[in-house]
Amino acid sequence: MAKAKASLNPTVDAPVNKTSKPNKPMSPAQQALLKLGLRRDIDLALHLPLRYEDETRITLLSQAREGESVQIEGEVTRCEIAYGGRRQLQVTVDDGSDTCLLRFFSFYPSQQKAMAVGTRLRARGELKGGFMGWTMMHPHCKAAGGELPNALTPVYPTVAQLPQPYLRKAVTTGLSRADLGDFWPPEIGMPMGLKPAWGLKASLTFLHHPTPDVSLAQLEDHSHPAWQRLKAEELLAQQLSQLKSRQARDQLRAPTLPLQSQGLQAQLLKALPFQLTHAQTRVCDEIAQDLAKPVPMHRLLQGDVGSGKTVVAALSACACMDAGYQCALMAPTEILADQHFRKLVGWLEPLGIRVAWLTGSQKKKERAEMLGLIESGQAGLVVGTHAVIQDQVQFKNLALAIIDEQHRFGVAQRLALRNKSAGLEPHLLMMTATPIPRTLAMSYYADLDVSTIDELPPGRSPIVTKVVHEGRRHEVIERIQAQIAQGRQVYWVCPLIEESEALDLTNATATHAELSEALQHVTQANGQPALVGLLHSRMPVAEKKAVMSLFSQGQMSVLVSTTVIEVGVDVPNASLMVIEHAERFGLSQLHQLRGRVGRGAAASACVLLYSTGDAPRLGETARERLKAMAETNDGFEIARRDLDIRGPGEFLGARQSGDALLRFADLATDTHLLAWAREAAPVMLARYPHLAEMQVNRWLGAKSEFLKA
Ligand code: ADP
Ligand code: MG
Repeated sequence: MAKAKASLNPTVDAPVNKTSKPNKPMSPAQQALLKLGLRRDIDLALHLPLRYEDETRITLLSQAREGESVQIEGEVTRCEIAYGGRRQLQVTVDDGSDTCLLRFFSFYPSQQKAMAVGTRLRARGELKGGFMGWTMMHPHCKAAGGELPNALTPVYPTVAQLPQPYLRKAVTTGLSRADLGDFWPPEIGMPMGLKPAWGLKASLTFLHHPTPDVSLAQLEDHSHPAWQRLKAEELLAQQLSQLKSRQARDQLRAPTLPLQSQGLQAQLLKALPFQLTHAQTRVCDEIAQDLAKPVPMHRLLQGDVGSGKTVVAALSACACMDAGYQCALMAPTEILADQHFRKLVGWLEPLGIRVAWLTGSQKKKERAEMLGLIESGQAGLVVGTHAVIQDQVQFKNLALAIIDEQHRFGVAQRLALRNKSAGLEPHLLMMTATPIPRTLAMSYYADLDVSTIDELPPGRSPIVTKVVHEGRRHEVIERIQAQIAQGRQVYWVCPLIEESEALDLTNATATHAELSEALQHVTQANGQPALVGLLHSRMPVAEKKAVMSLFSQGQMSVLVSTTVIEVGVDVPNASLMVIEHAERFGLSQLHQLRGRVGRGAAASACVLLYSTGDAPRLGETARERLKAMAETNDGFEIARRDLDIRGPGEFLGARQSGDALLRFADLATDTHLLAWAREAAPVMLARYPHLAEMQVNRWLGAKSEFLKA
């Protein structure tokens, strides 16, 4: 109730009011327009119809077909309320060729009056045949006569407070007032197959009011030239905006960190117990080239789970410290940060590097000591969680910020890290195991350089994935016993139940109890009884760490956990991953979880336990996700399918970038338009920066403002 009241109260929207007319409160329809982001004339002009209605002609009943949507005109010969079953208004119309029965279950007395016997009516609706002759349910009716429009009638996407006729009028006004002049200079050419005659103005005018002879199929599948033009416009604006932010970044200055031939990086490479893969070497080179430039790096390092991103991060940190600067490495969870810390200390302290550790749960004294090391510059590398970007943290000279599993950090946090270095901008390296499909990389991430590790370290055995119904749970538990007897370790992941963190816990706790009991007589290869541990997000950090360390040292056989282990954990001896209620997880999440096994030489498996609950079978998308998991281990293929299943909106959701999503272009089908926009944008920006600016504003101006608000 309170909510409904608030939205009706005009003072809630006071700031918007002030900018327009201070004294007149906005009508609900006006407010709804703003809510839809329809502020400027151009926004209205770009608000395109969902579908169309044909009011351009009158169909004779004798020539109509069953199921057809038609408009008829004729005289009312009968108008009465009938009580057969449900109370209804029945109106018979005779158009001279045949009669049609109009039926209304809800109606006003005024409507009944307007359809009195003898009046001439124009009615529009779907024709049904039957033994009573033609009928129409709840047709749109108005008085007969009046001019027939010469274009199809648009039906716009709208909300409850915004009636279609009001919106139509607003759009028509916006369309007539908006400046729709073409900004495209001839130098950028045209996308293939598109004629200059379809300019922006012609295209928009057509799409709002198409002539009745148009192929509706072409309008529906957006292959009509007018649609092509709009999509090309939008993609061009998006490319320009990304180019502009890249240019803005290129104006910034960062410390140059040239690679030293005999430096820390070379020493670490020598000390590592393994050889880098070709892919690792290649991405290290790409990063080194960026770091040697005085422009801040803005690079995404993508590589499937287990592809070895951490060592690349360590080698990049070495390059930074070689040049006398500090490096920060941030991870999204304390467990992950802790694991990085241990690994990096193991690699770097023998080389004489001091690694500092920062986290929220730290004791005051330790924290103060760490802050001192960071401020004085004694610590060359700082590893931690979000604590690294807190205000009290003063770096002596931060030059490289590395963010692991970047999708977990919001933009604000990334910016805060950037601001940690006085004067010069630090270089930024973001790492992710969720690769960005190519089309997204070319559009939404065009301002980002991407390095890809497309090869796993040698000696990994592929993971066999099985999708198993919950009813066969006992077989899975037997399999766990066999794994433990062979000295292997097992993860068992319980799902996050969004509505209730408590339920989430009950589930994990119950499973923990169940497995503890089922495995109580099982002994590990070393003769010790099998230990089953529990890890969940509500546990105190110290306890979490204790459990994690028992597991990573091999003393614990089974780790039951909620999704806290999702990212990054590295225990090569673990060879079986069981995911309970796998149907509740997203695809890339499942893939990340699966990546926790298959890190050693032993054959590994992933069991996706699913339950259909009360339903007879799994929902469509859940089935697709599990199928994809069973069919491929390739992170890129998984990401591509994830994009197919979820669409870019949700896929990008985690990016929290405030970027306006593409409204019209579809990256899956409009690849030729995207390719054109990618070539056209740099030309336009270089030669006509003013037009480029106008193009971006026209398309993205209101949207970004809208999202910021
Ligand atoms: P991710 O890319 O998922 O972060 P990690 O950096 O955790 O992967 O690496 C996974 C495991 O592979 C670690 O144990 C790491 O030490 C090991 N590793 C990394 N690179 C190589 C390599 N070139 N050869 C062998 N093992 C490697
Ligand atoms: Mg990692």
